[in-house]
Amino acid sequence: MPEALHKGEKTFRGIPVSAGVCRGKILVLGRTRPSIGKRHLSEAELAEDVNRLERALVQTRHQILEVQRKVSKGMGAHEGSIFDAHLLVLEDRTLLDEVVRMMQEEKVNAEHAFHTVAERYAATLAAIEDDYLRERATDMRDVTARVLNNLLGLDNEFDLRHLKEPCIIISHDLTPSNTAQLDKLKVLGFATDVGSKTSHTAIMARSMRIPAVVGLKNASEEFETGQYALLDGFNGVVVLNPSDQTLFEYGQIIRKQVTLQEKLRDILLNPAITLDGHRVLLSANIEQASDAEEVKANGAEGVGLFRTEYLFINREHLPDEEEQYQAYRAAARALKPFPVVIRTFDLGGDKFLSHLQVPAEMNPFLGCRAIRFCLQQLDIFRNQLRAILRASAEGNLKMMYPMISGLGELTQANALLEEYKAELRRENIGFDENLETGAMIETPSAALVADSLARRLKFLSIGTNDLIQYSLAVDRMNETIAHLYEPTHPAIVRLIKLTVDAAHHHKIPVSVCGEMASDPVLAPLLLGLGVDELSAAPPLVPPLKFLIRRLKMSEAKQLADFALECESGVEILTRCQELSRRIAPGLFEEK
Ligand code: PEP
Ligand code: MG
Repeated sequence: MPEALHKGEKTFRGIPVSAGVCRGKILVLGRTRPSIGKRHLSEAELAEDVNRLERALVQTRHQILEVQRKVSKGMGAHEGSIFDAHLLVLEDRTLLDEVVRMMQEEKVNAEHAFHTVAERYAATLAAIEDDYLRERATDMRDVTARVLNNLLGLDNEFDLRHLKEPCIIISHDLTPSNTAQLDKLKVLGFATDVGSKTSHTAIMARSMRIPAVVGLKNASEEFETGQYALLDGFNGVVVLNPSDQTLFEYGQIIRKQVTLQEKLRDILLNPAITLDGHRVLLSANIEQASDAEEVKANGAEGVGLFRTEYLFINREHLPDEEEQYQAYRAAARALKPFPVVIRTFDLGGDKFLSHLQVPAEMNPFLGCRAIRFCLQQLDIFRNQLRAILRASAEGNLKMMYPMISGLGELTQANALLEEYKAELRRENIGFDENLETGAMIETPSAALVADSLARRLKFLSIGTNDLIQYSLAVDRMNETIAHLYEPTHPAIVRLIKLTVDAAHHHKIPVSVCGEMASDPVLAPLLLGLGVDELSAAPPLVPPLKFLIRRLKMSEAKQLADFALECESGVEILTRCQELSRRIAPGLFEEK
């Protein structure tokens, strides 16, 4: 619902789908559809009309292929593949047979029958509470409009290729084909009544970096072409006739955002060094080999955690040794010379294989999870270890075991690793004889015996997500006790310190790859405790680097000293916030 703020100013709220703020004149694309008259046809006319329909379908197919080719070339294969769904509509025999049947039974013209049948399908899909199916309704309508235009001999209703001046597009809906035509230089932003975050139109807006808001309900009816508006793609807001005050406030926000993004871009390829010269390794967490591009684009120095279990879930069959080898090798190659740490798979807990019959457990997080599962499913583990070993021939791979709870599991896993190395030697298959092996510290027991582990390993990586859950006995998935999930709890601070000291005593590095590492408020505490490397989701790496380059290691150490003495998690958190906000206020601006 619009809210009146100032005389003439109206704010509309929707769903933010593509970041950025813009302002300018608006162009409202009408909801006018070509008029689709119903005509009764003779038998002879009917045969010709079915042919006309066939020709329109072929023409539509060519047009879609052409748009797809342009989009793939200009924006990438992923965006291009959006149009596969459109081509499928044209090949939907059930739909087309029904159209022809209606024409023949009711003796009506092609456009009337096509529009009636396709709209019935689309309306059914649109009514289902499911973003994916609703999106299929948009696809259906997009294709229907094209077919109808071709049947009626009309040009595309929204030809957005020849806009005369820069504008914000407002429309009830924008189909992916319309979006693909948008001239980035002329379209400042767009807003639609319908749509969701996962809609194809939203995906395309993001990849074109055009600020966009969707889901404005009926707002398009309230706008008129030529009016002035401001569109905020961060918060999902469109302000019609913005007042001077609003423009001023937004001007500041825009300037700050732009400045911050520029600053992050400026240091993208610079190392993460504190003001007093301490070098921090900043790496990224990934889930598939193709994420390597994002790792590079965000200036991360390799991968600190490759969650390989995503190769195993959401699919019918287990990936074999060869498929895994290809995936690990691809990641290693893409990121050379930076290291890529492959974590052996962490199944169980909340991540299951749909096709493996695993007995239900009372407490899955305390059950047969991660390394425990591997040590029971030796065939699966063998495939993975052999694949990792083979890919290690690239020279920049490392591997680590998840959820190690004591020396026994490490010894067992390492014995298997040695066995598979011996197998490969016998088979004359190359691998990196110096492959570094590490373990994740995710259980309190592992932290307490980190000394025994560290003496047998080349690195440790603290998985704070689990370490917090297990140490504080707080289920990380349970929102009713989320307030107890406290990364700055004194127990956590001390367990991290124990782990760091054990690693450094044995002259091996220690990283943190849990979410704590990617939080700019908590990163200084980790560094002060002596952590050598932080691994975070790729887009979170630039802000971390920005923070580190404004931090003095001496301040981080003081913070850690305080935390190690302090008895209150809340007080530790407050100190962390004070430090981060003081040194990098730009990261904490309200958007
Ligand atoms: C962790 O537990 O902190 C971790 C990085 O592993 P995951 O989140 O995959 O359990
Ligand atoms: Mg974990």
